[in-house]
Amino acid sequence: MTQQVKAIRIEANGGPEAMKLAMVDLPPPGTDEVTIRQKAVGLNFIDIYFRSGLYKQSLPHGLGCEASGIVEAVGANVRHLKVGDRVAYGQSPLGAYAEARNVPANFVVKLPSAISFEEGAAIMLKGLTAQYLLRQTYRLQGGETILFHAAAGGVGLIACQWAKALGVKVIGTTSSPEKAALAKANGAWEVIDYTRENVAERVLELTGGNKVPVVYDSVGKDTWLTSLDCLQPRGLMVSFGNASGPVDGVSLGILASKGSLYVTRPMLGDHVATQEKMAAAAGELFDMIIAKNIKVHIGQRFPLHEAGKAHAALAGRQTRGATILTLD
Ligand code: NDP
Repeated sequence: MTQQVKAIRIEANGGPEAMKLAMVDLPPPGTDEVTIRQKAVGLNFIDIYFRSGLYKQSLPHGLGCEASGIVEAVGANVRHLKVGDRVAYGQSPLGAYAEARNVPANFVVKLPSAISFEEGAAIMLKGLTAQYLLRQTYRLQGGETILFHAAAGGVGLIACQWAKALGVKVIGTTSSPEKAALAKANGAWEVIDYTRENVAERVLELTGGNKVPVVYDSVGKDTWLTSLDCLQPRGLMVSFGNASGPVDGVSLGILASKGSLYVTRPMLGDHVATQEKMAAAAGELFDMIIAKNIKVHIGQRFPLHEAGKAHAALAGRQTRGATILTLD
């Protein structure tokens, strides 16, 4: 039977005010879907790109791709989940900002009992991103020193802890002393205030002139050139986000002139494209949390109807760690 549930919708791209709380139809799940009664929703910077229109999707549409909850109904083809399972997902079609929804079952994994619903919603998209960045895009080795921008953010705090557990020294960047302290408390070895200090000079100093083999850069436009200057010859630039705007107009020659550099622009979806890959990456992430190598840091919570305030805080650099939308 079709139910009515509260969900955030946008009719047109725009600022946080473009998001409206509405009652929407929730039909029974399709054959490859599950219906999830959600307990908590994760907020991510990618939600801002879809709201603003930087990433396009035909309108009107919902928002959000990360949440946790309980399986309420199961499609006929779904084998790995059953009604009543505690679950989470971190990569789904838009629509996670809702009390309940249907999700393709391939994106959904069982949540271990040691991990709370809020932690599940905070960790899936960000933690799976840290997993592929540090373990697949460039497989970190103990003893290496790396540069990770926005180290006190949602992905950043997880990445700092994960890298430390691998024996890697993280040089993080943040925009305030308080965020720097948080990144250090979560495993960063050194933190540079990139609003005040010369990042390339500090990286040279901190590495004894060696620079780093890999830079993880989700800030985009503002840090692109600096990041290239921090790399060793033949180093890898991992440009995985656009918090300050997208990197465009790049001439390939710059990679030659700065030392035969490599560059990649990865997306989570390509790393967890099958249920097997999703389960393997999530399993590795959950093991790190259960072993207490990674503590889930939820810096702020907003009720679903205040999703606009949550977006303004995230876009305005006011958040630390993960942000959760709570449901009644
Ligand atoms: P964060 O919590 O990291 O928030 C973004 C942070 O970026 C801010 O807190 C701020 O930290 C920093 N920042 C730098 N410049 C700006 C700016 N001009 N405006 C706003 N913020 C700025 O967000 P998430 O953890 O959700 O995501 C981190 C990044 O990773 C995003 O860019 C996101 O798009 C990307 N991402 C990419 C994925 C992929 O597969 N490609 C998957 C998941 C996330 P500070 O104040 O310290 O500068």
